[in-house]
Order: sequence, then structure tokens, then C-alpha cells
Amino acid sequence: MKTKKDFLRVAVHTPLRRTFDYLPNKETELKILKPGIRVSIPFGKQRNASGVIISINSKSEYPYHKLKKINYVIDESPVIDSKHLDLLIWASTYYHHPIGEVIHNALPTLLRKNDNTNKYEDFFWSLSEKNSISNAGSIKISAIQKEIIKHLKETGEPINDLELKKIFPSAKRSLISLEKNGLVRKETKGNVKIKKNNTKENITLNEYQDTAINKILASINSNCVYLLDGLTGSGKTEVYMTVMENVIESGNQCLVLLPEIGLTPQLIQRFKNRFDVQIGIQHSGLSNIERLKHWQDSKSGKAKIILGTRSAIWTPLKNPGIYIIDEEHDLSYKQQSGFQYSARDLLVVRAKKDNVSAILGSATPSLETIFNANKNRYSHLILPKRAGVARQPKFRLLDIRGKKMHGPLSYILIEEIKKHLKEKNQVLLFLNRRGYSTYLYCHNCGWKAECERCEIPFTYHKSKNNLKCHQCGSSKKNIKCCPLCELELLRLGHGTEQIEEVLSKQFPNSNIARIDRDTTRKRNAMNNYLEKVNTGEIDILVGTQMITKGHHFPNVTLTAIIDADRGLFSTDFRASERLAQLFMQVSGRTGRGKKEGTVIVQTYNPDHPLFHTLIKHGYNHLSKSLLKERKSSLLPPYSHMAFLRVEAHNINQVKYFIKNAGMHLNKFSKNTLQLFGPIPALIEKHSGRFRYQLIIQASNRKNLHAHMDKWLQKLETMKGSKTVRWSLDIDPQDMS
Ligand code: ADP
Ligand code: ZN
Ligand code: ZN
Repeated sequence: MKTKKDFLRVAVHTPLRRTFDYLPNKETELKILKPGIRVSIPFGKQRNASGVIISINSKSEYPYHKLKKINYVIDESPVIDSKHLDLLIWASTYYHHPIGEVIHNALPTLLRKNDNTNKYEDFFWSLSEKNSISNAGSIKISAIQKEIIKHLKETGEPINDLELKKIFPSAKRSLISLEKNGLVRKETKGNVKIKKNNTKENITLNEYQDTAINKILASINSNCVYLLDGLTGSGKTEVYMTVMENVIESGNQCLVLLPEIGLTPQLIQRFKNRFDVQIGIQHSGLSNIERLKHWQDSKSGKAKIILGTRSAIWTPLKNPGIYIIDEEHDLSYKQQSGFQYSARDLLVVRAKKDNVSAILGSATPSLETIFNANKNRYSHLILPKRAGVARQPKFRLLDIRGKKMHGPLSYILIEEIKKHLKEKNQVLLFLNRRGYSTYLYCHNCGWKAECERCEIPFTYHKSKNNLKCHQCGSSKKNIKCCPLCELELLRLGHGTEQIEEVLSKQFPNSNIARIDRDTTRKRNAMNNYLEKVNTGEIDILVGTQMITKGHHFPNVTLTAIIDADRGLFSTDFRASERLAQLFMQVSGRTGRGKKEGTVIVQTYNPDHPLFHTLIKHGYNHLSKSLLKERKSSLLPPYSHMAFLRVEAHNINQVKYFIKNAGMHLNKFSKNTLQLFGPIPALIEKHSGRFRYQLIIQASNRKNLHAHMDKWLQKLETMKGSKTVRWSLDIDPQDMS
């Protein structure tokens, strides 16, 4: 007998914007079938693809005899619970992105396959009583096994399997045989004591922090969004942690998003010091099994705190109590390729769906968020001064036009650095460009060393003695002479390597460290540097954007921005906002301790209004005037945008596709949308591909979205849609 509801709507990982209907293979299975459960299905040429049930319906658009049966049911209970599925479907609808890809993107890798043998069991290793190195003498053990035993002995307590395998990556076999020999023991968590490390710092919160916390706690069981607007060092993290304490005490969980986890080890340590609950950390550096473990622990409610970067927004929480996003303005929250979602915006949506509150924290809130606060959609909490004894740094614009220079550094700056070092303080220099010089140029004929695939200059790296394209990553051997006239090439522009070189000549007795992607490739390299800065081993720190976020360097009293002018003249309408944010973040690294800090800004444009407003009146004032500009030119947040991004090797195909796409959209929308394009992206060529955009703008969100689905269906079948690469970016954050 057929039951009424027996059509399974299934999402499959495919770029097609649709779901697929299947039939259950046995009547009995209907009992256990629920949305969020994975099923194995025949799909196209794949006989055993995996899909997720989205809904179970009594009707299908397709004739019954055309529908296929599923192969089998993978899960006993949903891997995606209904609340979570609801969020994923919402995201798929809002971003007009295929549901199959949205789900694929949100699941840990091990759950993307169609087997359920990957349930992770948490267990610990410890030494058995009979073990000591001496009596191990009778049993043959390998060098690595000795190391493992030594490590377990030194630690003196059980070590989590994953942790141990991080230290000894190939230890699996060794551990099994040690266990067989009775030298080590496997334990499940129940019998293991976890080290307590609850060291709450003895801090008396100031009145602003108190007010913020009280307001947030007052609404903690309902949906309210807070903009926590406070300078770096004003005590935002203390506010988060106090709120989190309350949430955890009432048995709920906290989700905390951070910009780039590799860059904020100190912050993670602070959370670990403060809370002795299970913390799940989600970021791209994890192994698949670690990811799955954290996912399961937060889904089951075991992990009380989930810390992570952008993708942590997809972590399911059993009992969400607060959603927090630190540095909400940070561009890393926007995924820039494939499924182009904003974790910040999704956090706000998710908070609403789950009826919990959200805190968006920043020293330099994005204009969108300020706009929402001004409209009273968000409650604006301000921490107006630095917490504790630290004060705001002093700014100094250093006009370097016509000034004497040591390469990228002016004589005046060198003298200032000397003064600060003499006082036994630390100095931080910021330049957002790695390598030695930014291009090689022939003074005689004008030839430039360029990456052919990207048509941008190669950067010369002295340490590797090679030329590198910072866009596509290709590199080649260094060349000294012009290939055309054989004269020696000039090296123009400078990067962090060159600053390091100038400094080591000027300050031969100081310890200098350079932090950029070239020096921090190895695991823990970044941590080692940060530790050395904190112990005072390093006197001068040179770095790129990597050093600007989150770090707390109490002894840095001078920060210098070497090339402040980049970004002043960009065609991206967000460039001023981004420059101001970067500027404030960099300067936030100084004067965080008891001593006052100074920020020196080297510039050829000392009269630029952006610098003046920022330095004289601060970020808040500047953001007001930037918002006015946006309003008068009807740019976001005063309008809504989407980009159709198109790229291909053949520039004509790209332009043709965009023109055609624009024509169809105009037809569907009856010319109610503003379209601009084809417009070259800021990065016009990348790895041999030409990149152009169609900019779609609307005065209200509804209009922007109204015709998208129909239009995208059209694009999928349009001429050229298979030869060019195209994607839709809703609420785009940059024009690159
Ligand atoms: P933010 O997150 O805004 O950068 P933090 O919460 O990290 O600020 O605080 C900066 C520093 O000031 C930290 O070392 C923190 O321990 C300390 N701090 C925060 N609040 C107070 C307070 N009320 N009194 C004294 N020190 C504080
Ligand atoms: Zn030449
Ligand atoms: Zn290149």
C-alpha cells in the first residue's frame, strides 16, 4: 500500500540550481526518513552519489514512472537538524546558490561522502601502571614509541588522541602496538581528569563595560543585535567573556567568529584560560577528523564554546545562547569564490531564527553595520576609551616629499625609532607588501619584468633570489639585466624584505623580526615570533597585514605605517573605508600597556582629507562623512548590489556573455534595475583569464532579488555559459 507522503526531495552536490525527487526503496524506511538525513542515490552517471533529504512530499512535478528509488539510507538520524537545514535553505535562496553546493560547503568533509563509518569517538592515551622505560627493556620498542612514552610521562596525564597525533603524526601503528604490549592504555573521556585552567584575571570592569554587559544580558533570551563599538584595547573581549560566562552557566553554547584564527592565538589562549569547558575550534587548518569531532561535539551540546573563522558559521549548535563576531568589518568573513556568502550577515540571520542575541564587535565597524545601528536595527554600545591604564596613541603625519631616505624609511623615522629603542621599548613597522622590490624596470628601453599570465609586475624576493607573481603565485629565476638591451635593471618599489635589510644596517645591535607570509609558512612560526615579541626578545617587528589583527603587544610604543598612500586612489568605492579600518587596526597595536604610544604615518599626501578627518576626529567621524558620500551617490548601504562575475581566457567571450546576460536581465526586470558593465575587475587578468563584471544595482533589496532565479535559469542555458566561468555575488564586498 502506498502512503500519502512518499516523495523525497533531495539536494545533491551539483552546480544545478534545483533539487531532485526520489522514491524510498522500502515502505518501512519511511518511518525513519526525515529531512536532514543522507541517502545514497543513483545520480546521472554516478550509481552511488550522496544526497540530503530536504523535504518529504506528497506530490512531485515529475511523473511517477520516471522517478528513481534511492539505494539506501545512510544515517539513522539527521546529520542536519531541522533548524540548521532551515538556515541552509535560507542561504541558498538568498544567495541564489544551488542548495546542493550550500549543503556540501557546510558539511565537514567526512560527512560529504556516503558512508556512516566515520563517527568519531573521543579517547585518550595514558601510560599503563606497568610502564616505565626500564621495564620496557624486555619489549622491543621503536624510537618513535620511546618518544611517545617519554612525552606521556612528561605530560603526566592522559592525552587526547588527536592532540597526540598532532605531535606524532604517524603514531597510529606505534600506539596500537604499544597498547598490545600493555605499555599504554586507551581511555574514554569519562575516566579522565581534564586539567583545570580557570584563571580569571582580576579585572574590575569599567562603567562602559558594565553598561554593555547589562544591556546584553537583559535580552539574552531573545533576539537583539548589538554593535559593540570600542577602540582596540577598550575591553570588548572582556565584555564577550563575561556574557559568555552567563550563557554557559545557564547551560547554553556560544559561537564566536574570529577573522583568521592562525593570527589570533593569543585570543584563543585567553578563552582557554578563562573557561574550563570544552572549546571546539573550527578553522581551515584542521584535519578532517578534527573537524568532524568539533562538529559532532557542538551538535550534541558537549562543546560549550565554538571558536572559528568564517566557515564556523555552519557549525550546528544544540543550545545556542549567544552569537559573537569579533572584528565584524573584516573582509575575511566574506567568502570570495564559489558560494560567496557573508558569515557576518548570516550570523545576524541565524540569531533571529534561533531567537538569541548577537554581538558584532569592532573598533572600526563597517559602514553597513553603522547604518543598521543608526536605523535602530542594532543596538549601539560604545566603549569610548581604552580599558585599564592604556591611553590612545598620538598620531603624526610625516610628509616625506623631498625628504632624505634610507630606501623606504625616512631619516626622521630612523631617528624616532632610535629614541624608542633607547627607552627599551619595541617598535612595529607596517608595510602591506612582502618581498624586496615590487618591480624590475629597464631605464634604457622601459622593459618591465611581468607575469605573462596576469600582466602585473613580478616582485623580486631577495631571500629566495627569484621573481614571484603575487597574484597567481608563479615564480621564475631572478634576472639582473634587461633581455632586450642587456643593461642592468632598476629595482623599484619596496617590500618588507627591504625594510628588514635597511633596519639591520641602521640598527646592527637590535633584534629584528619580519612577519609575513614568507616567514610564517611553517606551523607555529607565527606563534614563535609572537612569543618572542612578548618576552622582549625582539626589538623591531616588520610585518604585513598579518601583524595588524588582534595581537596585544604591551611594550610597543611606536608604530610606523610606511606607505600610507596605497588605497587612497583606488576605484573601489569601499577603498576609503578599508584604508581607514586598516589604519586604525595598525595603530591599535601601539601603546597598549602603561606607556603612551605614537603612530607615525609616512606619506606623500599629508593634506589628504581622509588622513585629516581620521587623525583629528577619529574613525566614527570619518565613517559619518563616508556614509554621507555613499548616500549622495546612492551606493550601498543606500542601495543594494550584486555582481555577475565572469572570466575566461578569451576576452571577447567574457564581454559577449556579460552583454547578453545584461540584456536578459533588463527584459525580465522591465528595466527596473540599474546595470553597469562589462566593467573590468580590479584584478583584470589572473592566471591567463580575463575578469569582468556586470554590476547590478537596485534601490531596494526586493527588487534586486525579484528576477534573479528566472535570470539564473536563463544563464545556465545561455550560449557561452559552459565556456566562461561565471558566478553571482550578492552583496559583493570588493571589486577585485
Ligand atoms: P579589545 O578586545 O577591545 O581589544 P580587551 O578586552 O582585549 O580589548 O582588553 C585590552 C586589555 O585590557 C586586556 O589586556 C584586558 O585584560 C585589559 N582590560 C580589559 N578591561 C579592563 C578593565 N576594566 N580594567 C583593566 N584592564 C582591563
Ligand atoms: Zn632594456
Ligand atoms: Zn601571475
